[in-house]
Amino acid sequence: MLALWAVLGPEAPTYIVAMVCIALASALAYGTPLAVQLAIDAFASGTEDRSPPAAALRAWLGGEAVVAEPWRIAAFAAATALLAGILTWMKGALAARASQRAVRRLRERVHAHLTRLPLSFFDRHSSGDLVQRCTSDVDTVLTFLSGQVTEIGRATALLLAAVPLMLLTDVSLALWSLLLLPAVIGYGLVFFRIVRNRFLRKDEAEGALTARAQENLFGIRVVRAFGRGDFEARRFRAANDLHRTLDERLFRAFALFWASSDVLCIGQLGLVFGIGLWRVSEGTMAPGQLGFFLVAVNLWLWPVRLMGRVIADLGKATVAFGRLQEVLNAPEDEEPSQPLVPEIRGAIEFRDVRFRHSPSSAWALDGLTLSIAEGETVALLGPSGAGKSTLIDLLLRMRDPESGSITVDGVPLGRIPRAAVRAAVAAVLQQPFLYSRSIDGNIRVARPGAAREDVESAAETASIHDSIRRFESGYATVVGERGITLSGGQRQRLAIARTVLIDAPVLVLDDSLSAVDTDTERRILDALRERRGRRTTIVVAHRLSTLQLADRVIVIERGRVADSGTHAELASRAGLYRRLHDLQRELEEAIA
Ligand code: ADP
Repeated sequence: MLALWAVLGPEAPTYIVAMVCIALASALAYGTPLAVQLAIDAFASGTEDRSPPAAALRAWLGGEAVVAEPWRIAAFAAATALLAGILTWMKGALAARASQRAVRRLRERVHAHLTRLPLSFFDRHSSGDLVQRCTSDVDTVLTFLSGQVTEIGRATALLLAAVPLMLLTDVSLALWSLLLLPAVIGYGLVFFRIVRNRFLRKDEAEGALTARAQENLFGIRVVRAFGRGDFEARRFRAANDLHRTLDERLFRAFALFWASSDVLCIGQLGLVFGIGLWRVSEGTMAPGQLGFFLVAVNLWLWPVRLMGRVIADLGKATVAFGRLQEVLNAPEDEEPSQPLVPEIRGAIEFRDVRFRHSPSSAWALDGLTLSIAEGETVALLGPSGAGKSTLIDLLLRMRDPESGSITVDGVPLGRIPRAAVRAAVAAVLQQPFLYSRSIDGNIRVARPGAAREDVESAAETASIHDSIRRFESGYATVVGERGITLSGGQRQRLAIARTVLIDAPVLVLDDSLSAVDTDTERRILDALRERRGRRTTIVVAHRLSTLQLADRVIVIERGRVADSGTHAELASRAGLYRRLHDLQRELEEAIA
């Protein structure tokens, strides 16, 4: 609760004013029952007022004058109702404003924090789950702040104003009016506790339905290619049926709740009416007093009936808020306490580096040692799962090693701030991610303000300038979900252009040329070399043609360097490189 209060932050005063408005509006609402009491006794029954509140009001409105000028009572009722209406409107506007702003800040905080969390956090959480936290969990908190809390506030204020007025009007009937109150609140509370599981199951079914639809849409090609349409349609229907059944059960439960709690509330009103009528016939109560009770109880009873429901819903907001706190409290990547920002030239050294993705998994890097000289082009070769991508993650400081050391130009990598590392080491990752925006925007990701010539020259280096020019809208062509679909090779080349634009001293290509033909590949590598004399380049590759372009090939197996040397050296030794070499030669010959 305190943490939720903290969410309001600078909006807290506005929120408090909204609450004061609810309290005032609730108190003013009793102007109507008091006016009814006054009117009945003044005109219909002719009895004197026996209760202090009505007597006071009568005196205020001019005593006997109200009989001669009945508009005074009407004007009082109208004025209080109007004022209550204005205050209720102000409460709505202020509460919405305060909670919307607070929640906007909360969402921004969660999102910004997510962008700074270490990769290991994302290994543990699915993206769907995180999206849900940023969207529906935040919405739940919003509904809670703008709706539920104010509902509880209103019901409480109505009751708090009613109790003294009722007691002053007639003590015994006041007590009778409150008789079923615990039952009315308790019933809602217990009922919604019981059906909470149904809510959860319905939410799960809804999530499953969405996930199924999403999976089929993303995988539409697989669904079509394997003729899985009917099968998927049946699976979807099953999920849809389950959702419908659960939803229907929930609605039936609701119908039962509203009907039965109506009976309770009407029972309470009936009780007040019956006892009040008896008292009036006995002559111990004025008809106006009974009128007051009937209207007043009717005022607070219905909002109070909802209290049980709202209180039962509090749990949902608490859970959603807990999930947001979990993200906000996750520790960010640590930055060095005494950072060094050297002029990086690109000599890289890994010494006895060990890393695993989780304490229970096997070592992805198991005592890896290698050194790469400034300006050298090395190729990394190794079976899938050998640890090549992990090595690159470590070099980019996306993850930190468990033991061993990584240095760049002799400076421990851990002492260099992440931003400086990423400015110096430009990487084209294995599965390049393209934004749903223009080609130009995709190339400028790391340097939004780059000049047009720089963008085009980067594209030329990546051998994609000509392809882009052939698109109808050229560099303005939108790619991705909202635009044209690029081929695998085009995507890779676009990603290379984006990386080249940074012009960093160290360049990493993680299997980034696999979908590009050998001629283009050679052109790109030559252009890269030409662009900036010699820069340290690390290329993960499996193709002999690429490996041959490197100064040195490093063979990685099971998280260690298994062998390293020039193309000729490795080809002369037994090992992975020789096997690959022979295999690709045979293939080439077979094709020829
Ligand atoms: P390569 O790039 O050589 O194919 P990787 O570096 O991707 O190899 O993987 C090395 C090992 O680490 C593999 O056993 C792989 O299963 C594991 N691994 C890679 N990424 C993750 C991850 N995010 N979470 C857990 N294990 C991972």
